[in-house]
Amino acid sequence: MHKSTQLIHNGHETDPVTGALGVTIYQTSTFLRRDMSKGPDSQPFDYSRGGHPTRLALEEIIAALEGGAKGYAFGSGMAAISSVFGLLSAGDHVIAAEEVYGGSLFILNTFYKRMGIETTLVDSSNPENITKALRSNTKALYLESPSNPLLKITDLSACIGIAKKAGILAIVDNTFMTPYLQRPIELGADIVVHSATKFLGGHSDVVLGLAVTATNKLGDKLHTVQNSFGAIPGPWDEWLVMRGIKTLKVRLETQQASAQRIAEWLLTHKNVTNVYYPGLAGHPDKAIHEKQASGAGAMLAFKTKTTEQALRFYEKVTLAAAAPSLGGVETIASRPVTMSNIATSAADKERLGITDTLIRLAIGLEDAEDLIADFAQALA
Ligand SMILES: *Cc1c(COP(=O)(O)O)cnc(C)c1O
Repeated sequence: MHKSTQLIHNGHETDPVTGALGVTIYQTSTFLRRDMSKGPDSQPFDYSRGGHPTRLALEEIIAALEGGAKGYAFGSGMAAISSVFGLLSAGDHVIAAEEVYGGSLFILNTFYKRMGIETTLVDSSNPENITKALRSNTKALYLESPSNPLLKITDLSACIGIAKKAGILAIVDNTFMTPYLQRPIELGADIVVHSATKFLGGHSDVVLGLAVTATNKLGDKLHTVQNSFGAIPGPWDEWLVMRGIKTLKVRLETQQASAQRIAEWLLTHKNVTNVYYPGLAGHPDKAIHEKQASGAGAMLAFKTKTTEQALRFYEKVTLAAAAPSLGGVETIASRPVTMSNIATSAADKERLGITDTLIRLAIGLEDAEDLIADFAQALA
């Protein structure tokens, strides 16, 4: 089946009890213990932190879409990512790409560091840097491609290959691409994480996270973390994400087509110095991206000549919300230096090129012509 069909037909089209189309929202915290002489494993659902029918439907849907064995849902993308790192122990070492989501680096460099887990940040656009960073106690490699916010590409197969050879977990944040465009487990990853708050939810109305494991064994371990940390979402939010997933194809296809046009238009603007989008002919790693993903996505970034021009853009733009987040039906213009990369040190911002003039756009479903006209007046 094509992914577009699987978004709709995934074993959860109808409620088995009533025949209702769609998944039922079970607003319950607990379930009858059918046989009091037995433990919780004697029945499918017992207490909602450990397992819940609405959540299970979403977990099975995302596992199938990513081509993994088991899926798990969490209260946010960060809850999913934190829970995945909960698989590690004191004394373990993590190699993380330096351009992953700022929040992921923050938990590694603060909470997990305090718990005795060390992290080395590398530029993953060169896989050799990962080989060089390997230690005897390295237990996980954490990647994201395209990167946030500069849309740099990491060769996922090459990097995951290094992790496999070293016998460590390869974890990929697939939020920007979604399984519709890119499936890291098919490239060898052990775990995929998502902020479903973004494209999967798709309407800027829910915060939720997902993780998918390649094997049942790893899934069981992550389930223990999910059940014991308890960073789970509620059934309404799970339902909203399942509803969002149904229209992922049409949203993403349209947003991506608009992103391509807007990126090409921005290249021609006199006040724009750089445009970052993997769909552009001039993107240095376009070929690597096309090898591992079926589209360039709906995220792009650009730099204006001056900071004043960037700040004026947020002030004057009317069809883009000046806000954090991405992946909704509305276009969002974020400012990495004060939003996603607020925790990045000044020296690292400078080194990575995350400047005051950098604007990140998440293209929505507005007409591309209208967006271009609006951006033109905001950049004038
Ligand atoms: C937003 C985001 C996260 C964090 O997800 P929340 O749902 O906000 O907790 C993680 N990774 C990426 C790439 C994101 O964009």
